[in-house]
Amino acid sequence: MDLPGSGKGTITKQVGEKLGLINIDTGATFRAVTLAMLKQNIKATETEKIEELLENISIELRKEENEQKVFLNGEDVSLQIREKPVNDFVSKVSTLKIVRDKLLKLQRKIAEGKNVIMEGRDIGTTVFPNANVKIYLDATPEERARRRVLQNNEKGIKTTYEEVLENVKTRDKIDSSREIAPLKKAEDAIYIDSTNMSILEVVEKICKIIEEHRKEEKD
Ligand code: C5P
Repeated sequence: MDLPGSGKGTITKQVGEKLGLINIDTGATFRAVTLAMLKQNIKATETEKIEELLENISIELRKEENEQKVFLNGEDVSLQIREKPVNDFVSKVSTLKIVRDKLLKLQRKIAEGKNVIMEGRDIGTTVFPNANVKIYLDATPEERARRRVLQNNEKGIKTTYEEVLENVKTRDKIDSSREIAPLKKAEDAIYIDSTNMSILEVVEKICKIIEEHRKEEKD
């Protein structure tokens, strides 16, 4: 699953709950590395410092009280990683090979031996090219920004529509044009445009696709 604000966070959570799949948000791992760099004032060009940071970093995704929490070196950073400084820097950090290599290993390890539903921009193309089911979830930048603002309000994170829309567009541009694991639809992914669909409609559609796949596997 792919674009931010396409509803992928909410949707993967609900599909996971319905079908007994563990939900993994890979964007949160890129956001955690970005926050760690910001905390230590490390620039994207400071390769040695980034290497050292990655050697010692601990990123954990834990479910607590039915909420997906993100821990950076033991600290709960679930809210901080959604704030503006991280939004503005994360796509730059995500272009770095050392960061992607490290997180690719981490993401594969988290999923090892489990039935998972994983969301992120390169899952179907790079992390799990042999995934059983691939969905490319799309929506217009305007709709994605509208949803993000609502979500942020619920979490108590202050953002404006204009600021979020600008950020969504900029990140799409950087993510789609980067050299390593760019954001793109895997050839065998099923395309869903959620712009005019409710969360429930998308959840039902994806559950149906997965259930059909499971049935085919059994037959
Ligand atoms: O999914 P989310 O919007 O939280 O992702 C934040 C950023 O992390 C994306 O804009 C992208 O730069 C990066 N990312 C990535 N590969 C992934 C997931 C996220 O490059 N699998």
